[in-house]
Amino acid sequence: MESGAEIFQEPETVTKPRHRHDSTVLCRFVSGEFEKVDIDFRHTNYIAFSHVWGDPSLYHPTTISNIPEPIIASPSKARCLDQNLQRLVGDSYFWLDVLSIDQSPETVEERIQATAIMPDIYKHAQKTIVIRDGSGFQSCCVDAIGQLRTWADYHNGIQQWNTHWRTDHRGQRLYEGILERLWPLQESVFSNHVQFISCEESLARTTFSWGDIYSGTQFISANTDRLWTMSRAWASYGTTGEVSGDEQLAFMNALLRNGEVSRDRTSRIPFSTAIGREFLIQSNSTRRTTKARDLILTTMSQYSWYTAPTPRDIRNMSFGQLFRDCFDQARRAHRATLPRITGGMVGDDGLVLETSNIPEPEYLGDLVKLFGLATDAAPNNEKDCASGLEYGKVGVRTIESTSMVMTFDIIDRSLDFSPDAWKFALRGELSMSPYGVWPDEKLFLETVSKEVCQEQAMKFLNLMLIGHFGGGGAKLDADSFKRDLINANASNYSKFFIRIAALISCGIGISALSWSENVWTPVLVSIGELELLGLVSSAEMVSGEENVFHLATPLDSTTPPRLSATTTNNSGTEDRVDVCNATFLLNPNISRCLYISPFLDDSIDEPLIVQRVNSLFSAVSLGLKRLVIDMPLRSLYPEDDHNRVRPILRAAFASLEIIEEFCSVRDELFLDTVYPTNEPKVWSFWPHLEHLALYNVDVASSEFLVALRRCERLTKLVLTRPDGLEECIEDSEFPPLPHLQRVIIVNTAEGHRQWPLFRRPTSRSCFLGRIFTATPHFSPATYMAEPTAAARGGIDRLLVSINVPMPAGRDGYDAEVCQEWVRNHAIDGSLWKLHGAPISRDMEQTLLC
Ligand SMILES: [Zn+2]
Repeated sequence: MESGAEIFQEPETVTKPRHRHDSTVLCRFVSGEFEKVDIDFRHTNYIAFSHVWGDPSLYHPTTISNIPEPIIASPSKARCLDQNLQRLVGDSYFWLDVLSIDQSPETVEERIQATAIMPDIYKHAQKTIVIRDGSGFQSCCVDAIGQLRTWADYHNGIQQWNTHWRTDHRGQRLYEGILERLWPLQESVFSNHVQFISCEESLARTTFSWGDIYSGTQFISANTDRLWTMSRAWASYGTTGEVSGDEQLAFMNALLRNGEVSRDRTSRIPFSTAIGREFLIQSNSTRRTTKARDLILTTMSQYSWYTAPTPRDIRNMSFGQLFRDCFDQARRAHRATLPRITGGMVGDDGLVLETSNIPEPEYLGDLVKLFGLATDAAPNNEKDCASGLEYGKVGVRTIESTSMVMTFDIIDRSLDFSPDAWKFALRGELSMSPYGVWPDEKLFLETVSKEVCQEQAMKFLNLMLIGHFGGGGAKLDADSFKRDLINANASNYSKFFIRIAALISCGIGISALSWSENVWTPVLVSIGELELLGLVSSAEMVSGEENVFHLATPLDSTTPPRLSATTTNNSGTEDRVDVCNATFLLNPNISRCLYISPFLDDSIDEPLIVQRVNSLFSAVSLGLKRLVIDMPLRSLYPEDDHNRVRPILRAAFASLEIIEEFCSVRDELFLDTVYPTNEPKVWSFWPHLEHLALYNVDVASSEFLVALRRCERLTKLVLTRPDGLEECIEDSEFPPLPHLQRVIIVNTAEGHRQWPLFRRPTSRSCFLGRIFTATPHFSPATYMAEPTAAARGGIDRLLVSINVPMPAGRDGYDAEVCQEWVRNHAIDGSLWKLHGAPISRDMEQTLLC
């Protein structure tokens, strides 16, 4: 391994105590005289500045009134500071990066170090003054938008601005640095009190190109998105509940009108915990940094569990190593998410999920995507994914030679299936395409270079999406373009179209295009009647053959999985994106069942969660074969079900038609919706059911026996602490169960003592007695003779009992102990293979005496 990898594995470099720098350089004017002091900023009042450096080609050392040393800034920034700095700060201390941090090239490590205290500098500031470039929203734009007091104002305002921009700013380009770069986002997010000021207003002109006609519209929605997301991030900082819409609107008002805004501090706890929505809402952010590593260092410094490696180490680490180190720390703090790209997806060996073989992100959104969907905690390794969400086996085929017609067909289906991913791309990374949307020359020849091809493909896709979502002229133009491509059958384009489309629909940034060529193969995945675009590790594909994979979303086995991810749309409401819609990156190493335990408060009277269970089941019903549930279904009886959650749950479970293995940890899958009821047991609707585990079912009840009769394929039955074992069951009532191989009775030793498996008077007609005497091996004659070893073994394995060990200190909690034990064995699949103590011999002696 290269030296960087060794650094990553060296424990002291990543587990060193968190540096705590209490001092930084603050500046102030004392009677007009400029002074700089190294001071404990945590105990000093000061103002912090946040600004964007701007285009490096524009900034050069320049001087500002009353400051003896030159600073590095763009001419407009320098003028702005020159005119306003003293007025803004008065005699207060202030922190301005260009004055407070040494900017000379030889102090790179110091600047990396400064990243670590950046959050604290802004958190402790009395206020943060954010300097806008002046090249973004202009005064006339702000007049068009109007005051934003309500979300209705916001929607109207954005529409009016839309019209205004298209009429009054034709051929002009909006660039608001604080919406484009990463640092100002983080700096504002940490600041409780923000004041905006703006450099002199001016808009850059763009040279006319056809592409701008459509990309202009795209620009408007992309900038609206950026404004919304920044305000949302600020308003959601440190909150655990609802994000305040008022705070969000106030932030947008302040930003646009160069005003001030404060947020309520009492309701906030600073970030110290999970990677949450403040990060995840940036999934299509096009904010950038000069160095990709700053994307991690800046965003992760807000979390208390993250300690950046030493500056020297950081300089030696690749982006992938830094990312992996970050994941490792998050995991140790139980704060990890599930990485989007796991080792198995890129052909890594071993059982560790995260990998350093990842594409280097270009935008913040690319990084957020790498962190994957939010889960409460990430699994530790592939084995932990036993609780993954399995869609069953899927056929996977490569897309080797494709006509242009087929290519468009594949893209159209992807658009239909994952519209949100495409919309986000349109307003995010595609809006940044430096190429516009209209290739001036249609270069369809086979001889065009790969680079030109790639660039043209991107332009065309962008045009197509603008047309797809916006209609109008863009649609007509895209369609005409499409026809030209089809007529030319430009096969050199189709592979770029397919790969870009696959990256977007799999939730990976387009900036990963070149990287992905070495690692992934675009494929078509057949799931039921759907055929979807996906990406598979090239190492796993056997070309020219039908490849069979298990499609699964891994879930952490120790915490209740989140059933869906949420994304936030432009209007401030939350759209739900089901996990399955976002997951078509295949990981061949993960193939298991679904375990869900979605009710945290021991009650199913949670309509929202019930709805999610319902949508999850409808999404997975085509492929779900193994299911383990831990749900308090007995917490709410039908007669008290005022929210009518039970009928929804009942229908959701009934829809799981191909279940083969099922375990209900806490009850007998109690899904009655009325009382009294004659509704059949839901598990009896599952024709493929082979393995069934229920808790505390009454085995002598006719509902249970009738249901069993329908389970013709049943081979294994696990009954934990069942009732009715000693009761008589009429022969005519007892189901035939032709394939039954094993019945396992689970209890603690004390439980078995209190509720024996059978008693002499009813031994022949009780539940276990009926099963025993019905077995083909059983006949008194067989028992009188010395039975063959094989027959003996079969009989011994037929009925077994298991004593669940009682951990110290849990006396009296037999029910809970048994439930936990069964749950764990059901999740890892060992429940069905357990060897307990044979019941048969006792029973046989009782029967034959
Ligand atoms: Zn304007």
